Amino acid sequence: MDYQTLSRRNTKTVMIGHVPVGSSSPVVVQSMTNTDTADAAATVKQVYELWRAGSEVVRITVNSPEAAAQVSSIRRQLDDFGCNVPLVGDFHFNGHRLLAQYPDCAEALAKYRINPGNVGKGSKRDEQFSAMIKAAIDYNKPVRIGVNWGSLDQAKMARMMDENSKRVAPLTADALMREMLIQSALENAAEAEDLGLPSDRIIISCKVSAVQDLIKVYRDLGSRCDYPLHLGLTEAGMGSKGIVASTAALSVLMQDGIGDTIRVSLTPEPGEPRTKEVVVAQEILQTMGIRSFTPLVTACPGCGRTTSTFFQELAQSIQRYLRDQMPIWRSQYPGVETMSVAVMGCVVNGPGESKLANIGISLPGTGEVPVAPVYVDGEKTVTLKGEAIADDFKVIVEEYVRV
Ligand code: SF4
Repeated sequence: MDYQTLSRRNTKTVMIGHVPVGSSSPVVVQSMTNTDTADAAATVKQVYELWRAGSEVVRITVNSPEAAAQVSSIRRQLDDFGCNVPLVGDFHFNGHRLLAQYPDCAEALAKYRINPGNVGKGSKRDEQFSAMIKAAIDYNKPVRIGVNWGSLDQAKMARMMDENSKRVAPLTADALMREMLIQSALENAAEAEDLGLPSDRIIISCKVSAVQDLIKVYRDLGSRCDYPLHLGLTEAGMGSKGIVASTAALSVLMQDGIGDTIRVSLTPEPGEPRTKEVVVAQEILQTMGIRSFTPLVTACPGCGRTTSTFFQELAQSIQRYLRDQMPIWRSQYPGVETMSVAVMGCVVNGPGESKLANIGISLPGTGEVPVAPVYVDGEKTVTLKGEAIADDFKVIVEEYVRV
């Protein structure tokens, strides 16, 4: 597959620490912790896990003095573990105070996320917004003006609704909401520039929870500015619904070249690792041919010819193994992430798909002892037998990667 063939909307480049975000750089995968930032040990552990899974930027909430007090320590501990992932501080309501009172926190963060709807009310709003932008200027940090459907600036909403009611052809309620989001983002970005923040230190997002609204908002937003855009469906939901909704929305927009950094916001089910959102984001980018992260396994769905669980277990075991190896393989074997692996259930499509992959294995189907021919670069090389097929196949994969 050819990667990076889709053309992107032209944007400025914003540096989040050492990670460039914008149209001349790869689309960046990011995620967010769900630990209490005041609990530094738990936050360090989760940031580290997200980074190991492939998150290139990690956001943490900075919602209290206790949280702000821990940020520089979290940064130091991550550095001690060799984890240099940039940390973004998520600020609401009291960000102006926390950035002023905790200079170590302001310094340790690589970017500040500001939600214009949650900055303050009335005359306080301008003052508090200015204080946060001033901190970004003083500490040489970029910001994300992150507008959210659920927390729009109430004063701006009231003003725009009033103006809309006086129009000859008023916007529909949905169109007005979308326009409010976009205007809020653009006006706040312009205000930040007026306060002295350079335009190449501003990223914008306008998150909503409905797929069609997100697509309309970002298409419009993308045509009205050249700031890099952070893309994500907010409150996407749990399980398959969250994954499908995020995939649908992000895929359509990225096919249009819109989106410079993405987050897949999934509600974890009990026992589910937080890293799942990183895996899903990577898989969206990889299956669309935009970036590659880990060898993807082509596996058939199985059918009446694969009635034992051996086939499913083999496919899952191989996929898990490949993903687990990537932190080491990525640095040692450049290009390994584009390798293709096929795990097929029977002789109907198995040999054909296996020959098309770099490495493929094909089981015989129902009722037969586990016997599996292996194909390397289109040629049948060996036939594996018995219960250790998965382990034997992993050894062959490892040898292939090393050569
Ligand atoms: Fe069924 Fe074989 Fe096709 Fe897999 S390759 S779906 S086992 S017929």
